[in-house]
Amino acid sequence: MPALSVSDVTALTRLALSTEPIVDRPVISVTTASRDVEGAGFPVYRGFAGLHTVHTDPFVLLDQAGPVNNGPFETKGAPWHPHRGFETVTYLLDGAIVHKDSNGGGGIIHEGDTQWMTAGAGVLHDELPTEEIFNAGGRQHAIQLWVNLPASLKWTPPRYQTVAAGSYALLASPDAGAFVRLIAGEIDGHSGPGSTHTPITLAHVTIVPGAQVTIPWDPTHSAMVYVLDGQSTVGLDGHPVLAHQTALLGEGDTVTVSAESTQQSATGSLEVLILGGRPIREAVAQYGPFVMNTKAEIRQALEDFEAGRLGTIPADVL
Ligand code: MN
Repeated sequence: MPALSVSDVTALTRLALSTEPIVDRPVISVTTASRDVEGAGFPVYRGFAGLHTVHTDPFVLLDQAGPVNNGPFETKGAPWHPHRGFETVTYLLDGAIVHKDSNGGGGIIHEGDTQWMTAGAGVLHDELPTEEIFNAGGRQHAIQLWVNLPASLKWTPPRYQTVAAGSYALLASPDAGAFVRLIAGEIDGHSGPGSTHTPITLAHVTIVPGAQVTIPWDPTHSAMVYVLDGQSTVGLDGHPVLAHQTALLGEGDTVTVSAESTQQSATGSLEVLILGGRPIREAVAQYGPFVMNTKAEIRQALEDFEAGRLGTIPADVL
């Protein structure tokens, strides 16, 4: 971290100060991530622990893997496994990941990049550190978001996209105390490059100690603030939200986040993800790597996976 950085934040386009009457989104709850282990055994903070999918809609999962400093041969990935019914968005803060899938998709993402995989009807994929990083070790830090698909799109064909850090929309707060990397969605008329079937807004915001930012937020989207590192307060009434905590926000037009004047974070600044999307408002049946609408569809996904109908591992990488 801080992934993509710029030498002079003051040179960036500034967020406009609103002249319209607005409602700043209130904090509904602050929850703390649980710890879990994913893939071949790497630890994650499960950011939405304690939140129902009704509240996180259209997201079903947020995992923060690391940050961890691995020695040689210690970096673990997530070898071949299936998904159906949603999209995975991986935002990489440190390290490098090689991705391959049964649909022929794949690529390498580096620090700051984002990878978007639509599992849709079904795919097998493999997410591993590069051979260089596996051999040498190094810092590993990634975010994985699961973005749900509505029933009408759960059977869409799989798709893979790499979104390079250099394509993000970069913005500064009016006093340049906050630096916004807009990865997907729209903020203040600026658009991020990421494209999911379900509209989302996703930004990584760095705020210097003592600074505050108010970000215009699509009033039709849900809104959450996840603190990657540092100490924040969220909302105009200043709810404390610490590292690995999620603030769930209510309805309104803007999201306000402040950095406490003292920061004990790796970068010296507050690092937050601000995210939301257009709620799907359908029943969610989730089991392991499958996110469907009903238990019957989960049983079918398991049967289809066992029968090889979610794809097969390409022969050239066996
Ligand atoms: Mn996966």
